Amino acid sequence: MTSNLTVGVLGGGQLGRMFIEAAHRLNVKVVALDPNENSPAKQISGLKHMHGSFKDSEAVKELSSQVDLLTIEIEHVDTESLKVLNVQPTAKTIGIIQDKLVQKEHLKSAGSPVPEFAGLDSIKDAVEFGQKHGFPYLLKCRMGAYDGRGNYVVKSRDHVEEAWNALGGKLLYAEKFVPFTKELAIMVVRSVTGEIASYPVVETVQKDNICHLVYAPAQIDGVVAQNAAKIAREAINSFDGAGIYGVELFDTPDGILVNEIAPRPHNSGHYTIDACHTSQFENHLRAILGLPLGSTDMKVPAALMVNLLGPETYELTKKSLVIPGATAHLYGKEEAKPGRKMGHITIVADSFAQLQSRGAMLADIKTIKPR
Ligand code: ATP
Ligand code: MG
Ligand code: MG
Repeated sequence: MTSNLTVGVLGGGQLGRMFIEAAHRLNVKVVALDPNENSPAKQISGLKHMHGSFKDSEAVKELSSQVDLLTIEIEHVDTESLKVLNVQPTAKTIGIIQDKLVQKEHLKSAGSPVPEFAGLDSIKDAVEFGQKHGFPYLLKCRMGAYDGRGNYVVKSRDHVEEAWNALGGKLLYAEKFVPFTKELAIMVVRSVTGEIASYPVVETVQKDNICHLVYAPAQIDGVVAQNAAKIAREAINSFDGAGIYGVELFDTPDGILVNEIAPRPHNSGHYTIDACHTSQFENHLRAILGLPLGSTDMKVPAALMVNLLGPETYELTKKSLVIPGATAHLYGKEEAKPGRKMGHITIVADSFAQLQSRGAMLADIKTIKPR
């Protein structure tokens, strides 16, 4: 059926690796473009991958000439060349989302609830934002941010300069600090045919700004979950282009706010590989090829995903091997630098209580109250 198709993916990290795993099962070939010759995605398929930057328009065009369709596993790519190439989601959508200020302006004008924010041109603007919206607030890099690396919490007026300089003072914006009760996330997938589906709402727990745990489904009131899903779907409907999208949300006493959107598979959706009928990676492939979407329902009552960061990766992986319902996914990265995402473990269980006791076998992790 789809055996003659080749998809080119911009980026060759772990998301590309898991995308290739899903594509192989449907006989779809995937060629990755990444500057690292031994990147996670390139290690697992014998196809000739491309070495080069996904920010380089010539390299992107060259990849496009070798494949039927392009997609992304990272949004920090050259969108100029993509405007005239066959890519899903669209260059326009990737362009809006890759600039977090433009993304917030887009979401606000589409009617999505977002925290108060403002673009900044100078330290004076940054001081004024704090005076207007209060301290602490977040100073954020507009471009290229991930794992909270482009964020700085500005504690008071006296810390504005320090924050500004720490982030290099270029292309920054400010965002009001949100006193959230929980962080939630949802994967939404839309096919080129227009078919749309969303996965269950999950709760994410970040440690040092990096995703640490994902509990699926989120242990929240059903009405809140429905509202979160509605807000996420409406936000995605304001963007064009097919594929899977990750929507990060804040649950606050005053309602749900959208934190940010990723136009690609997302860390909060890794649990879908072991816990849902169709993984986020397979549904992304189906969506961009116009194949019928697979069920986004969970096939187990409860799941927990634990990210493996840095040097502790191998000890945790070893422990996971004897935990019932646990599956380890390692990404093939060589250097286990502190904070680097080296893999993840998903644990599935028959109940939330069982999930927590299995989770405790792995590590002393934050447990959340079952509903
Ligand atoms: P990634 O893309 O890896 O999710 P990022 O670098 O784009 O991360 P954000 O999602 O902006 O970073 O922020 C990282 C974390 O910092 C959030 O998950 C949340 O815990 C916290 N955070 C971000 N913005 C705010 C805010 N306005 N108020 C309170 N906390 C925030
Ligand atoms: Mg981000
Ligand atoms: Mg984020």
